[in-house]
Amino acid sequence: MDNGFDADVIVIGAGGGGAVAAKELGERGLKVLILEAGPWYGNRKWPEPNTSAGAQESLSNEDLDIQLLKTNFTDLEDDMNDLITGKFRWGPADRSKGPWPRIIEKGGFVWQSAGVGGTTLLYFANCPRAYPAAFEREWPISYEEMVPYYEEVEQTLPVREATATSKEDLFLYGARKMGFTYTNEINLTKPGFRLQPNGILGINPMLNNPDFDLENNQAVGCTLRGHCINGCCIGPNVGSVAKRSTLVSYIPYALATGNVDIMPNSFVTAIHTGQNEEEGLFASSVTVRNTWTGEIREFKAKVIVLSAGSIESPRLWLNSGLPENEWVGKGLTTHMIDCVSGIFEEEDLMNILGMSEVKPYAGQNSAARMDYPGLGAFEPFGTSPGINSTMIYGTSQKGYYFQNQTREEEAWDREGIIAGELLKEFMRNYNKTLSIVVFSDDDVSQKNGVTLDPERRDENGYIPVISYEISDADREKRDQLVGLAAELLKKAGAKTVSRANWPPDVCAHIMSTMRIGFVTDTNCEASQVKRLFIADNSVLCNGLGGPNPTLTTQALAVRTAEKIAEKYFPSAKKA
Ligand SMILES: Cc1cc2nc3c(=O)[nH]c(=O)nc-3n(C[C@H](O)[C@H](O)[C@H](O)COP(=O)(O)OP(=O)(O)OC[C@H]3O[C@@H](n4cnc5c(N)ncnc54)[C@H](O)[C@@H]3O)c2cc1C
Repeated sequence: MDNGFDADVIVIGAGGGGAVAAKELGERGLKVLILEAGPWYGNRKWPEPNTSAGAQESLSNEDLDIQLLKTNFTDLEDDMNDLITGKFRWGPADRSKGPWPRIIEKGGFVWQSAGVGGTTLLYFANCPRAYPAAFEREWPISYEEMVPYYEEVEQTLPVREATATSKEDLFLYGARKMGFTYTNEINLTKPGFRLQPNGILGINPMLNNPDFDLENNQAVGCTLRGHCINGCCIGPNVGSVAKRSTLVSYIPYALATGNVDIMPNSFVTAIHTGQNEEEGLFASSVTVRNTWTGEIREFKAKVIVLSAGSIESPRLWLNSGLPENEWVGKGLTTHMIDCVSGIFEEEDLMNILGMSEVKPYAGQNSAARMDYPGLGAFEPFGTSPGINSTMIYGTSQKGYYFQNQTREEEAWDREGIIAGELLKEFMRNYNKTLSIVVFSDDDVSQKNGVTLDPERRDENGYIPVISYEISDADREKRDQLVGLAAELLKKAGAKTVSRANWPPDVCAHIMSTMRIGFVTDTNCEASQVKRLFIADNSVLCNGLGGPNPTLTTQALAVRTAEKIAEKYFPSAKKA
């Protein structure tokens, strides 16, 4: 680059939002440098991504290698998903080192992954739009303005109506029995059930072919093998992998522009500013620490896009000493996720499904949903048994099940952690279990969010402290929605129903800690620091009413890239 700049735009983080912004900017001919804290799987320049430092950067789709990705992503639950040592953890590529610490005040946990692809590496790829009503509450831009950007991402990922397997058939049967109706709306204003809009390619045409060879297949499409959360690697090349994490969608699209350079294992520890009369304070450069060697470098760009996710984006702002703002790190929403599960009798399953088991591990991790504007959303899910048992039996704010008395008006039979003989019995029945995950519409509160521990640091700066307290009104909404999910299981014929009752500070949908209209202007440019834009879940203005957040973040990132180009690179046009 000329003029002492390393790039036109630096993007911090290659996850759900950052990869989208990079692709959009690269397509306008702008030189983009992505700095990503975690490893890069499926790239020949890092043949052993967890055991050796590999190269510094990659700029080309030629480096991507599906066979390597297939050896990196193993289907083994611990290997992939363990929060401490798994490949999809919040920590450095070198798994002999511990994860990067966070302090969660009330004892929940943060479920997030470092690496090219970010947390979309393990996401289910459910891609619903926000509820329009959520935009009417606090957003400074209208839902209508978002629609073309939604359409753009839906076509690009692409998003398709999911294919149901037995767990969805059973869920839809229960939903009908409850009196709910199918909805074919995508801009949802009233309750209804539907197949998920998923960022997963259509069914692989070779699926029913007896010669189908999973390892060497050249056909494109989803095989319904049920490992979305362990890292999908089904496809003849990286860019055609069925589940559209940004690793296999927006990153290859970004590389294809020839303008995007990506450096994994590069943790940004500070954003630096300059000052001039015209702009006041503006972002000018970043400090980066190589997570293998500890080498420190500085990179300069004309614009910086912060896409480090809803915990690290405010952490980096605060660690960089950027101006005080009463909303930086504040307003965290989590959807207060909870799970319920029901176990069915073989005979009932035969009558409903024509088979004696639910086989919850088969198919896409979630292929149907119930939307309930005003309360949130819930969806059936099934994963490999270890992850499922953790989610439905091993995570609770209520202690063990035998410590809790269920009230008559509650639709579940027990709540809390299931252990001992009962756990063994329930897991023996895993094949006959239907699980539902519930996302409730939590309101923004300035009390909830991310601050820095004043003393404890890791190699990247002061450690983030996450605090989240549920309000009485939100608890009521959550209980109501969980009650509906439990009732659905009963109506479908479940003989016994358990509620996990997750701590509401378990963060998997982590949102709204750098809110549009509060920390940024309506273009997602920081109001106090010019040339610093935000493009990740943190810039969402609220929890969207309950729908899974990534599609909205990505749609907003497309819009933000457009605004960056208009303001700072007016001659840059999309090819
Ligand atoms: C089990 C699970 C299932 C999910 N399923 C769905 C789903 O079906 N649909 C849906 O919409 N959402 C789902 N989500 C949530 C989804 O993963 C997130 O909404 C999405 O990934 C958020 O995008 P982001 O850009 O905000 O953050 P991330 O995707 O987490 O990306 C942030 C990136 O920034 C990097 N980074 C952080 N700090 C720095 C730094 N200082 N320097 C350099 N790089 C940095 C990180 O390593 C990471 O790669 C799921 C989450 C979980 C845990």
